[in-house]
Amino acid sequence: MTQITPQPGILDIALYEGGQSRIEGVSDILKLSSNENPFGPSPDVRAAIAGAIADVHRYPNTDHAPLRETIGAVHGLDPARIICGVGSDEVLQFLAQAYAGPGDEVLHTEHGFAMYPILAHAVGATPVEVPERERVTDVDALLAACTERTKLVFIANPNNPTGTMIGAQEVERLAAGLPEGALLVLDGAYAEFVDGFDGGAGLVDRRDNVFMTRTFSKLYGLGGLRIGWGYGPKAIIDVLMRIRQPFNLSQVQMEAAIAAMRDRDHAARCVAENARLRVWLRRELAGLGIPSDPSFGNFLLARFADRTEAEAADDHLKSRGVIVRRVGGYGLPHCLRITVGDEAGCARVADGLRSFREGRT
Ligand code: PMP
Repeated sequence: MTQITPQPGILDIALYEGGQSRIEGVSDILKLSSNENPFGPSPDVRAAIAGAIADVHRYPNTDHAPLRETIGAVHGLDPARIICGVGSDEVLQFLAQAYAGPGDEVLHTEHGFAMYPILAHAVGATPVEVPERERVTDVDALLAACTERTKLVFIANPNNPTGTMIGAQEVERLAAGLPEGALLVLDGAYAEFVDGFDGGAGLVDRRDNVFMTRTFSKLYGLGGLRIGWGYGPKAIIDVLMRIRQPFNLSQVQMEAAIAAMRDRDHAARCVAENARLRVWLRRELAGLGIPSDPSFGNFLLARFADRTEAEAADDHLKSRGVIVRRVGGYGLPHCLRITVGDEAGCARVADGLRSFREGRT
């Protein structure tokens, strides 16, 4: 018998768990477990998808030029240095595949996004978890963890699931302090929610060891369509282009993304509502004795006394049809990550947690 053996690292991967979306026996579900936009995408997206459907017998264009040009125009970036992927997850995967392998180290923060260690293992590299300081990325700790084997440093800014972020100077200090040959990846999945923040694009322009990833899954409400993008030095884009499948994005995806990004009014309204309701919900939780860090994303990380209390709160919310995210897998067993929903959704979370505190059902 021959043994069919996967590449080193693959069997070390703990499967990614997506946010739960169903509760047995409950029909009025409020899903706040995946940081989705409660308002959905721009209404223009529907027409764009309908238009693109007429051509599904055709292969999509391979260079994504209209999408890259739209992104470039909205963000003031050079379209030639943009690469698009099946979610930003795929762009992160390109980076791991291109720049890390057996013997290399991939740094990520203590409560960083779960895909970073998964992607490191997938290419046979060694993921290195670096401590944070009170749920905030610690640049000194990251720099101290670097070795000559460090190839990639992944940080999400703002970070998921903590919602915290570090300032431009700190990010720049990190980039400047990395060893030769290490690439800093700034994951900007939540960058759109931070007023005036470029996600690190300016730093990408100033340095040759910084790359930024972004997504249409959060602010643009297109998580179900899977579209993301990356912006980096031309030399790195050229490398990633070699491993990108020519037809990774369908025409439907591209047309939807273009329509979503062009509707600046919808995007601005969603950002404003998220900011308003996030502040409101954070205050309500604080009033119930449930603290959370100021969040820069579209979610809050609610802290409880311990794992038992967090799980009891989660069970209570579920009994009322409200699904939030347990984050024990992120080293935060005493916390629940709660997506900021619409006004009614936020009120339902606050009511649910109030009745939990008061011992009511
Ligand atoms: N980075 C972070 C920090 C995220 O939270 C997510 C989504 N959970 C992603 C990347 C991936 O998003 P997508 O693949 O949908 O673009």
